[in-house]
Amino acid sequence: MARWMRILRQPACFLAVCRLLRLFQKNYKHTGQAQQDVTATYPSLHEDVVNALDNVPKPAPLFNHDGRKSEIIKSCNTNIMGRFACQNPKCSSPGWGSKKIAIQIRGFRNNTYDAVVFKQRCRTCQYLGTMHIDDNSYIERVAYRLKKWAGVPVETPEYNAVVGKPPHESSLCEGCKAKCCPMLR
Ligand SMILES: [Zn+2]
Ligand SMILES: [Zn+2]
Repeated sequence: MARWMRILRQPACFLAVCRLLRLFQKNYKHTGQAQQDVTATYPSLHEDVVNALDNVPKPAPLFNHDGRKSEIIKSCNTNIMGRFACQNPKCSSPGWGSKKIAIQIRGFRNNTYDAVVFKQRCRTCQYLGTMHIDDNSYIERVAYRLKKWAGVPVETPEYNAVVGKPPHESSLCEGCKAKCCPMLR
């Protein structure tokens, strides 16, 4: 034991142990849940977005499948609607609906775009929820933004009034954490 302590006390070894501990902490930050993607993209809805553009702008923008590697030339933080189910089998939460799911729509060069949707955490246990977005709200919001960027005159969409609902909790919203949520104050 004393020998181990002696080895541990060596600075290089101590630093290595610290680094390992930090790595462990990072991966199991929230209630022991392994690290997961806190965002999702929906390239499968691109076709519907293009249909909602009604032929303007032309040519229609393409979905950028590798947005992380592209240079963003414009972006917009907004909200869509959807539902979440808690992934924690021990949690009693029945899941939750949200009219304020953060989405960042990004425009790149070569007439491409993507839209990053941010997940939310369970109020009861802090686990990351499984996200089911409302397709129509996604399509409408993304098409609106692409038209606006192209200079097409568009009516401002009506924002859903959130009445009688608990306020948006930034600590449970991955969009707020990434500073990409319009609800972040
Ligand atoms: Zn839960
Ligand atoms: Zn938020």
